[in-house]
Amino acid sequence: KVKATGKNNYLFFTPEMNACYHERISLENELRQAISNSEFELYYQPKVSICGDRIVGLEALIRWRHPVHGLLNPASFIDLAEESGLICDITDWVLAEACSQMARWREIGLDNLRISVNVSPSEFTHSDFLERIVCNITKFGLPTDAVEIEITENLLLHDAPGIIDKMRYLRNHGVRISIDDFGTRYSSLNYLRKFPINTIKIDQSFVRDLAAGTTVSPILHAIIGMARGFGLHLVAEGVETMFQLETLNELGCDEMQGYLFSKPIPAAEVKLMLMNSLPG
Ligand code: C2E
Ligand code: CA
Ligand code: CA
Ligand code: CA
Repeated sequence: KVKATGKNNYLFFTPEMNACYHERISLENELRQAISNSEFELYYQPKVSICGDRIVGLEALIRWRHPVHGLLNPASFIDLAEESGLICDITDWVLAEACSQMARWREIGLDNLRISVNVSPSEFTHSDFLERIVCNITKFGLPTDAVEIEITENLLLHDAPGIIDKMRYLRNHGVRISIDDFGTRYSSLNYLRKFPINTIKIDQSFVRDLAAGTTVSPILHAIIGMARGFGLHLVAEGVETMFQLETLNELGCDEMQGYLFSKPIPAAEVKLMLMNSLPG
């Protein structure tokens, strides 16, 4: 059963449904089939550099083209994918698809781009996960530093044994690491010192609060100050207005992402956008 939650959003998995074992099993089966039937698609959202005013990267965001319910956002299936363990197969698919797409873009001269892929913290506990990441990147002939893994702060909070070593493994292979939704948990100075990360992504909620006539949150000031102090790359997401763009620019963000520049779009549209933005 699908529960409508408003515009283009369906919840396949709600707490009430958790109790309903059969319902859950059938959804899991649908998700499992989605993998073998190739029902997933990647949309890409550009990351824009503030100083250069150009597209420097793309974030891959998964969509499920459901045979009955149409195009579904990750909010309606990622949790179930994580809880059922199917997320590993999905991430493998996402990585391979994103890397092969990048390789095709590079072939036609659209190089100097970075691709960011979202990874669930739970996947870091799987023993072969890191090898699979590096293997997927090299299989398509990409330089490892063209790929960035976005993980949420949860991973750092758990402080699971070996996490730092695993992050170092990726960094030693050149893969970049970005902390997503930064500032929504108990971000501490300590993380930034302890973990080998390249980038932090300021959570959308801070960006949303930036409006004319209001003062900038001291938390946002603190986050930006910390990031700069540690020499980290700073990305703001959910940028929708010129006011937000200008404020974040003044505050010293390096890159921005948001509807102001572009919504997430299919690969074919990315190609047109990138070709049009080439000089000459
Ligand atoms: P996220 O990684 O924090 O991605 C940002 C979300 O904000 C995306 O939603 C994006 O479409 C949306 N967004 C971008 N710009 C704006 C803006 O200006 N305003 C507003 N209001 N929203 C904006 P989306 O694509 O629905 O993805 C939701 C979440 O699902 C992602 O949050 C990420 O945590 C997860 N996700 C997406 N793709 C994958 C994937 O391949 N694997 C995993 N494990 N998780 C994924
Ligand atoms: Ca992300
Ligand atoms: Ca985010
Ligand atoms: Ca998020």
